[in-house]
Amino acid sequence: MEGKKIIIAIDGYSSTGKSSFAKQIARKLSYIYVDTGAMYRAVTLYCIENNLIRNCELNVNKIIDNLNDIKIQFIFNNNAEKSETFLNGENVENKIRNVEVSGYVSAISAIPEVRTQMVALQREIGKNKGIVMDGRDIGTVVFPDAEIKIFMTAKPEIRAMRRYTELLQNGDNVTLQEIEKNICERDYIDTHRNTSPLKKADDAVILDNSHISVEEQMQWFEKIFQSVIEKQYL
Ligand code: C5P
Repeated sequence: MEGKKIIIAIDGYSSTGKSSFAKQIARKLSYIYVDTGAMYRAVTLYCIENNLIRNCELNVNKIIDNLNDIKIQFIFNNNAEKSETFLNGENVENKIRNVEVSGYVSAISAIPEVRTQMVALQREIGKNKGIVMDGRDIGTVVFPDAEIKIFMTAKPEIRAMRRYTELLQNGDNVTLQEIEKNICERDYIDTHRNTSPLKKADDAVILDNSHISVEEQMQWFEKIFQSVIEKQYL
């Protein structure tokens, strides 16, 4: 799979396997993978650790005032063979996936100023193309001219079970009910917020992976990729 480097935008509901799919594509194409959810999670972790959330209430003004003190980087870990998220110099790759962060991240990412800051960073990372970026607004807002836009979905109960299994493997002490509740809440907030709500871009292709394997998903992508690359040479 060769050709001019393009931008591949993958959006969709929580726990549809966007990150795994995006990573797999990036490996295949030798592209850079960017997990934008990790950026919003890192901002959320910062807010929790700096007491900008009290008794479930966000101190929105303080969060906005602190945005310039939040430095997010992705650094490749040769041992783990993956890129990891750093918050102000600390590796927070595991911490940002915990249940507390998941509980607040959609509320934090609904703050318009937070989005403006993250979108600017995402555009900077992707300016030379050759990237696979996953999130909620990549095809609609961050890169509306992306050459390939995929919108991922799957049945909620299937998504919850996949996420639950993943968290158990990481040693987290969670229940399936908690995960289901969190996924439904995040879907609701993500699709109903005023700024950049989660929605399918008009020119995105839908991928419902409720009942297809990872291999079938990749074959599906390869066909789309080939047709886009062929068009570029016409
Ligand atoms: O992708 P992940 O589920 O880790 O993202 C965590 C949360 O970050 C999402 O539920 C959503 O609220 C927010 N997010 C967003 N825009 C993005 C990526 C993630 O609002 N581009």
